[in-house]
Amino acid sequence: MKIYYIKFDVEINDNRFPDLKNAQAFCWVSETTPEAAIVKSEYFIKKDDIKINRIIQYPYEVNHNDFEDKDIGTENYLKCKKEGLSILYLGITTTVKSPTKFSIENKYQTQNTQEFLKKWKRLKQKGKCLHYSATNNCDHTIKSHSIQKRQMLSSISHNGHVYAISTDLSDIKRNAGAPTYKLKGLDQVSTFQGFCQKHDNELFTPIDDYPLQPTNEQVFLYSYRSVCREIYMKTNSYELCLESINKEENPAIIEFLKATIEGTEKGLNDLKKHKMNFDKSLKKKDFLDIEYVIFCSESKPNLAFSGLCYPYYDFQGKHIQTPFDKNKRLQLLSFCSAPMESGWGYIISWHKSSSDIGQHYINSLATATYLKKNIGDYLFRQTLQFENLAFSPIWWEALEQEKKDQIINYVYNNLSSFSDISPDHLSSGPDGICKWNFSYVKSNY
Ligand SMILES: [Zn+2]
Repeated sequence: MKIYYIKFDVEINDNRFPDLKNAQAFCWVSETTPEAAIVKSEYFIKKDDIKINRIIQYPYEVNHNDFEDKDIGTENYLKCKKEGLSILYLGITTTVKSPTKFSIENKYQTQNTQEFLKKWKRLKQKGKCLHYSATNNCDHTIKSHSIQKRQMLSSISHNGHVYAISTDLSDIKRNAGAPTYKLKGLDQVSTFQGFCQKHDNELFTPIDDYPLQPTNEQVFLYSYRSVCREIYMKTNSYELCLESINKEENPAIIEFLKATIEGTEKGLNDLKKHKMNFDKSLKKKDFLDIEYVIFCSESKPNLAFSGLCYPYYDFQGKHIQTPFDKNKRLQLLSFCSAPMESGWGYIISWHKSSSDIGQHYINSLATATYLKKNIGDYLFRQTLQFENLAFSPIWWEALEQEKKDQIINYVYNNLSSFSDISPDHLSSGPDGICKWNFSYVKSNY
């Protein structure tokens, strides 16, 4: 990731130095774009309870040589390289005669991240059956795999393991906030407690025990399971934010949590409406309500995934729907990898209530192919948006470091809270890495 250097004019109110003036914040920030570097620095300065007046120096990219003769510069540059950020505040006061270093005293109680992750783990173990006819008898939820396990996840695994994003705090810290892909056992990947044993077996046998033919029912079930997992995950993060905001004192963190809660609430409400549409069709066994396109490959898969997306931009970077439009429900697409008789299929599907965006999305993908772009690269970039994604260890370990870095930077940029989604996030990014070749396409509309 790049390191940017930014300078702010700030006001520091610290009882130890009542006449402090000419205060400035010098920031070294590890980010993918200058815009994200500004947002990230501003968030952390506010978190220190310091008021920002203006930017004195707009972000520019720096490297180690820029600070060679300057001890303080080198120290902060290296700290940023390790931790993702370093801020140094400078000011003049009559009470301190020679240059002296002080630590910022934060007057607010802030929850530690360890506590936060503990709560997350506790919520994750709390299951709930999401079947449309769930009753109190559904008390024993099981760990279901949202990525088909028997032929899909297992087929990319090596010694029972795959690479997936790590949520360990030590990994996040070590990699300066950027994602780390770590070897995980199959039972630690893609599972969620969203169904009781009875309903899980009853519903998912056609996809868990048989390869994708495809039938409408199979595609429907792949899509339905992705929707249920997303509801389960979003409900957990919503509850976690609500619990955290009540215990938080720092205004900058409260503001951040408020925005997260608002976004999650809107996303979750829309998601519940989508699930209701799926439930209605499922009840009537009306599997024709699903529309899909499947890109079929006869090679061995190197990735396995399942995920959902409200697409905001198409493959040409054209804006197609707006987040946070209170009057309009966002249309939803689901993406899954599924085992086929020979090879595997990349399924893109949607309930017919999301037809407009679904069909536009596919047309835009077709346009990209017409322009002789590699469809595999486009789909690969789409896939990297999902955290419910596993890499084959043999494939990942053989990948050059430069390509791994390209993937990590791209994922960081797309999942970061500090940057907006760029209109061209699907049309540019990691290229020629996945090497997917699709021999034929199946669709039902
Ligand atoms: Zn149940």
